[in-house]
Amino acid sequence: MQTPPLIDPFRRAITYLRVSVTDRCDFRCVYCMSENMTFLPKKELLTLEELDRLCSVFIRLGVRKLRITGGEPLVRRGLMGFFGAMSRHLHAGALDELTLTTNGSQLHRFAQPLFDAGVRRVNVSLDTLDAEKFARITRWGRLKQVLAGIDAAQTAGLRVKINTVALRGVNEDELFALTEWCAGRDMDLTFIEVMPMGDIGNEARLDQYWSLGDLRARLEGRYTVTDLAERSGGPARYVRLEESGQKVGLITPLSHTFCEGCNRVRVTCTGEIYTCLGQEGKADLRPALRDNPETDAPLVAAIRAAIGLKPRGHDFDYSRRGVAGRVSRHMSHTGG
Ligand code: SAM
Ligand code: SF4
Repeated sequence: MQTPPLIDPFRRAITYLRVSVTDRCDFRCVYCMSENMTFLPKKELLTLEELDRLCSVFIRLGVRKLRITGGEPLVRRGLMGFFGAMSRHLHAGALDELTLTTNGSQLHRFAQPLFDAGVRRVNVSLDTLDAEKFARITRWGRLKQVLAGIDAAQTAGLRVKINTVALRGVNEDELFALTEWCAGRDMDLTFIEVMPMGDIGNEARLDQYWSLGDLRARLEGRYTVTDLAERSGGPARYVRLEESGQKVGLITPLSHTFCEGCNRVRVTCTGEIYTCLGQEGKADLRPALRDNPETDAPLVAAIRAAIGLKPRGHDFDYSRRGVAGRVSRHMSHTGG
């Protein structure tokens, strides 16, 4: 490649980009949003053409994996056109993977178009298999619709991974039901620890916090749990449950153990780049994008400058007294 790749100050090559395409969502998950969210005015959002240009520049700079997220990405109007356009990078061999993280509510409509655009894997967030509990966690979501979306995804040929936020006193009792359900449907499963993000109150979130150390110990009480060497460059560690062959990911973003291998950056729907999920440090790429319709050079320079400031790691820490290193933005802003 002629363009030098993106390498941060700690010699980590940036090959993975997550892009949030909207801050809006049709759910109001209790750990993610308050019920009365104020969303950004439309003109603040990057247009789909701007998102295309931005992603294409990152791909030219060496990004090989692109994950679309939100808010809920599938509520953004016209998004299938964007996916269709991105597929040119898959065909050209410039991109290895185009994927998305979704709450699944619209998958029944979009699974096939996503597959047609070259998407092969989707992450679907699902914290419970109990309809009433699901409605309580997501406030506005309906389990039936998400399960129909998962069916549609599998029918279309998409590989589905389930993301489950581990919530103390909420889905603790479904640990084995979830692992067995996923094993039965040949879906990988990843548990995520609740992160201290956004303004929904420290106390509430500490209450929901269920350590994955404890979750793992419970898995070990039931299954033979083998650590897998697999690394994704992100915070996930993987184990296999030998009895079912089920792969389980454990995302403990509050531990510092993954930062060394971090290969990713995030861009918000307004064009801000965050080089670390757990730090406030960001840069605004939108002016470089909007003010220079004819040339990508200022955008490339702005991206390189931001990557040049990527911190070594983050500072999350649940201490006994409270949450330290908490960042103020919501996950729906940076897109999990
Ligand atoms: N709406 C899509 C979804 O729910 O999959 C994509 C965006 S959502 C912000 C991405 C992921 O972040 C979801 O799996 C969600 O469960 C997770 N998430 C949101 N808030 C979180 C928090 N405070 N701690 C840990 N995970 C969180
Ligand atoms: Fe929406 Fe996803 Fe946040 Fe739930 S976790 S409110 S589905 S953005």
